[in-house]
Amino acid sequence: MQPNPFGLRGFLIDAPDYGSLRSRRDGALIVADGKIAEIGDYDDLRKRQRAEPIHWIDRGAVAIFPGLIDCHAHLPQYSAVARGESQLLPWLRENIFPVEREFTGPKAREECPLFFHELARNGTTTAMLYAAIYEDSCEIGFEAAERSGLRVILGKMMMDLGSYGQLQPKKILSVSLIESERLCRKWHGADNGRLEYAFSPRFAVTCSEKLMRSAGELAQRFGAYLQTHLAENREEIEKVHHLHMSARDYTDVYEKYGLLTPKTMLGHCIHLSAREIDAIAAAQSNIAHCPTSNLFLGSGLFKLDQLLKAGLAIGLGSDVGAGPELNMWQVMRAALDVQKVRSMSEPALQRLRPSEAFYLATSGGARALGKSAVIGSLDAGKEADLTVVDLTAVLPYGKQGRRFDDLSTEDIVALCIYRAGPHANLETYVRGKCVYRASEAAPCQ
Ligand SMILES: [Zn+2]
Repeated sequence: MQPNPFGLRGFLIDAPDYGSLRSRRDGALIVADGKIAEIGDYDDLRKRQRAEPIHWIDRGAVAIFPGLIDCHAHLPQYSAVARGESQLLPWLRENIFPVEREFTGPKAREECPLFFHELARNGTTTAMLYAAIYEDSCEIGFEAAERSGLRVILGKMMMDLGSYGQLQPKKILSVSLIESERLCRKWHGADNGRLEYAFSPRFAVTCSEKLMRSAGELAQRFGAYLQTHLAENREEIEKVHHLHMSARDYTDVYEKYGLLTPKTMLGHCIHLSAREIDAIAAAQSNIAHCPTSNLFLGSGLFKLDQLLKAGLAIGLGSDVGAGPELNMWQVMRAALDVQKVRSMSEPALQRLRPSEAFYLATSGGARALGKSAVIGSLDAGKEADLTVVDLTAVLPYGKQGRRFDDLSTEDIVALCIYRAGPHANLETYVRGKCVYRASEAAPCQ
């Protein structure tokens, strides 16, 4: 049994605001009843008089970060990563729909627990995910998410145009709506809000007007999330233009059908006009920037500065399987790379700093999910979602090399972005519960 309360000692680092890091070199957290009860210098917290003794966990040269937040990934697609050389639409047809078509029954039961284990192993504590089109793929996903201890927002994929299922075209829409509603009723808010539902129309290419409108209404009725893809690829945008001739632009399709809400997460948003950016900002919808995916599919370069300037809440997404891995440090690295590549042709553009990419994967993601009051930074009163990173695993020459005492907080964040991942993640906590521990000798569950 995990002690309650308990203390964690390490180099505390978070980014409560865009562009600013906060740190305590020999810091500590006291975790009680799933929350960060106290935060401070280790020496101070250790000496404080208490009614009951604290069980201290001291893993040596570690950094303790807020748990990483993945705002966009596809549960059925992990087995198909790094596959195919084509752009979005042919890649979906050739590589992804065949994999999603199989994601039901035993296959879903086998893969879902592995997927959540991988998230925890990577230090991800919150994930917003799409299942396949089948009700059981989402049900099995929620059951595995429930057991994993992770914070998960999940939805059954909705598509009624060009879908990969076996249903008669006439039945697809009504079945999709009935199943999505049933899943939402069962899972939205489960385990005190750790599990939540997202109505998930895939994108305007594969969704009828009726489907999108109904998804928007259902999400509003249940206070659930909405997630979809927007303006990822030029060919996709052309296709949407032909399918929805009366719309002013791609974003207008979602606007008209009630999909832009403060609980909407829009994946990608690479090719947006100024009007579209304003419309998303006015609706207070949120964006999942997925740079590893955008580079893999050659979709385009995200205009981070323009979207931030409009005041949009932006998180990062691995977008597995177009993104090749669940490691959010690698997604942060790709976010830096995308802005560097842009700056080659736009010299006036300010480069993205490691601290800013780290913000997007923690506090930024929390804000985009409307969860800033609960997660995203290391503050007393917030829920204890944490990742504990072994700094010797990211330093060149490891334990033999330079000591991390000599490095600035920004240096450490940069080292983690460029070199951290599952090999360096020692422990992951959600609501103060250990959901992953690297040590074979003392697994947490
Ligand atoms: Zn996606």
